[in-house]
Amino acid sequence: MTAILDQDIMYLPGVGPKRKEILSKELHVNTWRDLLECYPYKYVDRSKLYTIDELNGTMPFVQIKGKILSFEEFSAGTRKKRVVAHFTDGRGVVDLVWFRGAQYVYKTYTINTEYIVFGKPVVFGGRYQFAHPEIEKATDLQLNEMGMQPYYSTTERMKNNGMTSRAIEKLTKTLINRLPEGSFSETLPSFITRPLHLISREAAFRGIHYPKSLDELQRAQVRLKFEELFYVQLNILRYASDHRRKYRGYVFQHVGRYFNDFYHNNLTFELTGAQKRVMHELRADMASGKQMNRLLQGDVGSGKTLVALMTMLIAIDNGFQACIMAPTEILAEQHFATIKEFLKGMDVRVELLTGIVKGKKRKEVLESLVNGDVKILVGTHAVIEDTVQFARLGLAVVDEQHRFGVAQRARLWAKSENPPHILVMTATPIPRTLAMTIYGDLDVSVIDELPPGRKPIQTLHKYDTQTTSLYNGIRQQIRQGRQVYIVFPLIKENEKKDLKDLEKGYESLLEIFPEFRISKVHGKMKPAEKEEEMRRFVSGETQILVATTVIEVGVNVPNASVMVILDAQRFGLSQLHQLRGRVGRGAKQSYCILVTGYKLSEETRKRIDIMCDTNDGFRIAEADLKLRGPGDLEGTQQSGIAFDLKIADIARDGQLVQLARDEAQKIVDNDPTCQKAEYQLLWNRLKELRKTNINWASIS
Ligand code: ADP
Ligand code: MG
Repeated sequence: MTAILDQDIMYLPGVGPKRKEILSKELHVNTWRDLLECYPYKYVDRSKLYTIDELNGTMPFVQIKGKILSFEEFSAGTRKKRVVAHFTDGRGVVDLVWFRGAQYVYKTYTINTEYIVFGKPVVFGGRYQFAHPEIEKATDLQLNEMGMQPYYSTTERMKNNGMTSRAIEKLTKTLINRLPEGSFSETLPSFITRPLHLISREAAFRGIHYPKSLDELQRAQVRLKFEELFYVQLNILRYASDHRRKYRGYVFQHVGRYFNDFYHNNLTFELTGAQKRVMHELRADMASGKQMNRLLQGDVGSGKTLVALMTMLIAIDNGFQACIMAPTEILAEQHFATIKEFLKGMDVRVELLTGIVKGKKRKEVLESLVNGDVKILVGTHAVIEDTVQFARLGLAVVDEQHRFGVAQRARLWAKSENPPHILVMTATPIPRTLAMTIYGDLDVSVIDELPPGRKPIQTLHKYDTQTTSLYNGIRQQIRQGRQVYIVFPLIKENEKKDLKDLEKGYESLLEIFPEFRISKVHGKMKPAEKEEEMRRFVSGETQILVATTVIEVGVNVPNASVMVILDAQRFGLSQLHQLRGRVGRGAKQSYCILVTGYKLSEETRKRIDIMCDTNDGFRIAEADLKLRGPGDLEGTQQSGIAFDLKIADIARDGQLVQLARDEAQKIVDNDPTCQKAEYQLLWNRLKELRKTNINWASIS
């Protein structure tokens, strides 16, 4: 929009063809605007100066002002040379040390010039030492002018070409100083910014790159984060509102014969309080005349499947069909078996549709769906294929599918006159703010209670030197008729080695347990092969399942009582919890054994301690968020959710997410058809963002 910011980055003093090429390749910076949208990832307060006698070894980066007294050179061995400058501020002496670049040091720094030295003080040989410090002439800089120093991400290639964080900082400052006032067009109207005390976009860009104080920095961050989150929410909510206006929801008015039959005759246990509450929420939704879009969260084993089944029975009571989709064939088969068992003796036709249902059987299932005979269809994503048509699909349940986004839901809508009600179920406790962003148009229900009588899983930590007792424990459990999971870590970056470790581990387990049969499953196997190995374990043919995290989601083998997780330090908290949830599903006491080496970081110890301490998924999810550092969205990356937030952090900026959502909701409510003049700024900006931001396309 603003022409001046669209200028080629080459027209910035300090950027020639070479730097232009590097900036473009490494940071995707092609224009002035792109450069300004590379936000610093951290800041260091450089408004304070320390004296040498104030230093102590626990300080992070500090700066001191003084002069170099002399240089000295040391060589250790044949080629390693070290240059040391003795530096004083009159209150003490420290050593500045360089392990390379001696020529540069001699050329650049001179004795008796006043410098400001910036670095981390470390005690070495009875004296504080600063290794490879940042040094600037004191006369160049007014201290209070430096304020908060920004740090920019750089790549190896950038550093090799002298484009350090400092160099980027200089470029950014050059740019900001030469932009005339009014270069940044405002993207939020004053009726939003004023009541929230948000600073202007222009001030925010100056403040984010060039903060004079912590306060200025924080105001800039809040403004830019809010803006980002606001447009994400506006996009989601406008979409949801459009959708609601276009489509009516089926009204499931009554609870009838199918539900009551099941509830009174087939259900052998009491629903938990949480299950009852959620059933009420679902029933109210489905009777409202609006289409239900609900996310059902509940820890593993909390009884979501049963809730789904009862919801499907209500659909049938109202003359509709229902389907439930699982992410894998094995899970679909399990649901199929569970549901058939639950409905024993009732005249509800349930069918299974997965990739392996073929030929005559498939044709028959498809036909019975169209003529309405089949009431409940259980399947994989094969269910949303175009060839699958229903007579009257009223409800779709999606199990353990984090990426079942709007696009997939849209395919379901095509299957009936009005869009069916949708219930997405997940055992991964997603923090509220995250759910709001990924499933912005979904309402959320939570089952926060486990059925009674479950024996809590006992979690133990063992070092990898204690294998004898581990193997004995496994042997004992299997002799009592139980089954055992043994999980090896596997991450993409390290895939080859991890797979080799798994193969090696499998071989040695064959030797350690010659009396047992062992299955092996990993992500690199062909799907058919994988399913077959799983099936052997599920049926009890094998006693041990050696696997990578492919078993994380949903598998139900109540007879399995031990979950051994090797190299447990390499797993995140929520992953560990998911894995642990594979056991403890039967009446027998279950165990989760976390195996690690002796050397563990403090953070890892905390993770292991929390696991040994609690089985509560929501407590674990919270602890997980707290343990993670700023800006670390590992959890969301793990579940494959594409994000393109440049500055906001869903995990840490929860309040802003809520605020942005509330504001966006007001706008959508006030102007559902995007016609009011005073909102045009917003709608136009949204259009622009949708055009340029690919990831947004997947939301809408
Ligand atoms: P989830 O899908 O949430 O992991 P499931 O629906 O598979 O959990 O339930 C786990 C087990 O608990 C199943 O065997 C189910 O029959 C049983 N179950 C569900 N609800 C109850 C309840 N209220 N009381 C006792 N057992 C229950
Ligand atoms: Mg389940």
